[in-house]
Amino acid sequence: MARLEFLVIHCTATPPGREVSADDIRRWHTAPVSKGGRGWKQVGYTDIIHLDGSVERLVDNNEDNNVDPWEVTNGAKGYNSRSRHIVYVGGVAKDGKTAKDTRTDQQKEALKAYVLDFHKKHPSVRIVGHNALAGKDCPSFDVPAFLKQIGV
Ligand SMILES: [Zn+2]
Repeated sequence: MARLEFLVIHCTATPPGREVSADDIRRWHTAPVSKGGRGWKQVGYTDIIHLDGSVERLVDNNEDNNVDPWEVTNGAKGYNSRSRHIVYVGGVAKDGKTAKDTRTDQQKEALKAYVLDFHKKHPSVRIVGHNALAGKDCPSFDVPAFLKQIGV
């Protein structure tokens, strides 16, 4: 069991206005590769922030400073045993592929509240975008600028 070191922010890479359910995420990540999934044992994220700003828990978490084996989510290869991953619904333009910050006002508020609360509980845990750990566009917005803006 490792100490929690990173909160990693992701996007679902879906176009603006398209909702993604917990079941969608579970199917994308845990269905066998032969059925169009990734074949993972566990979903990639602990929490999902829906278009209306509601936060839904996908994987149990006891909110302490350690990542228990049952809390591990598969968001970023090489970091999962010491990370918590969260995701907002959206992140690409209408064309379905160009990275774009599509967060609704409600999602921005929810993410702000989530991050501030998390930072209060875990002040030494680094908060980063997926793009800080891997060569990706995810989460399609400037996480360091966002953190600065909300005072973290
Ligand atoms: Zn990601």
